[in-house]
Amino acid sequence: MWIGAIEAGGTKFVCAVGNEKGKIAAKAVIPTTTPAKTMKQVVDFFLGTKKKLASIGVASFGPLDINPESKQYGQIAVTPKLAWQKFNYLPFLRKSFSCPIAINTDVNGAAIGELEWGAAKGLKSFLYMTVGTGIGVGGMVMGKFIMGLSHSEMGHIFVPIHPKDRFKGVCPIHKNCLEGLASGPSMMKRWKVASALDLPPKHFGWDLEAFYIGTAVANYILCFSPERVIIGGGVMKKEGLIEKVREVALHMLNGYLHEDEILHHIDRYIVLPKLKGDAGILGAIALAKNF
Ligand code: ZN
Repeated sequence: MWIGAIEAGGTKFVCAVGNEKGKIAAKAVIPTTTPAKTMKQVVDFFLGTKKKLASIGVASFGPLDINPESKQYGQIAVTPKLAWQKFNYLPFLRKSFSCPIAINTDVNGAAIGELEWGAAKGLKSFLYMTVGTGIGVGGMVMGKFIMGLSHSEMGHIFVPIHPKDRFKGVCPIHKNCLEGLASGPSMMKRWKVASALDLPPKHFGWDLEAFYIGTAVANYILCFSPERVIIGGGVMKKEGLIEKVREVALHMLNGYLHEDEILHHIDRYIVLPKLKGDAGILGAIALAKNF
């Protein structure tokens, strides 16, 4: 059984054909230009593999409609990537493929990849947070993706401002929401560095980063009572950051939650992802498999 996988990002689309075990047989990287150009190359890639697809999984940048019951299922909403505004994957892919097509956010894709093959294996309720160019949070409660009117936007929540922080934030919509204060670009602008990872290990910027991420994680734990919280993304590659985030989350919770996992096993409760390189594409395969 072959599964088609599309990991749709702002700069590139990664496409692959793999099996249900996540073994990849063919892969292509296509630049993100316009929907017409990029998607034609995507379709050509799948047709070129000559493999009959049992299903297709799309893990895409958002915001997008992920409710299979909705008329706009698969449609990208308002996005700074103007060419992609209101583009809908579904009718486009339907022209060439008759198999089931699962479409979800890139963050939920990564989350379900971790569920299938990574740090969330065997769990029913967990969160997956990514801290990079943006901040996104996905995950499941009782085996179902967190969803209401649409997918949640937990990267844009409001957290208390650190007393020593005078930075205005970089979110184009809210300025100092979590993403505005703690994303990679916010660190670049705040500390005038080319990459967040350029900040020296002992720099106060890391304490500040851990303060915001750890506070947000404490809020998520209070809201969803997850069995585990996985935090990935480029910024989390900084050595020592996950430990600081655990400390802050525990400090914020202040002993209020009595679960053994939180009180005594925080190092296996708030964790880094297990999937490395192909995480995004594996997530898209897992989406298709579990649709
Ligand atoms: Zn925001």
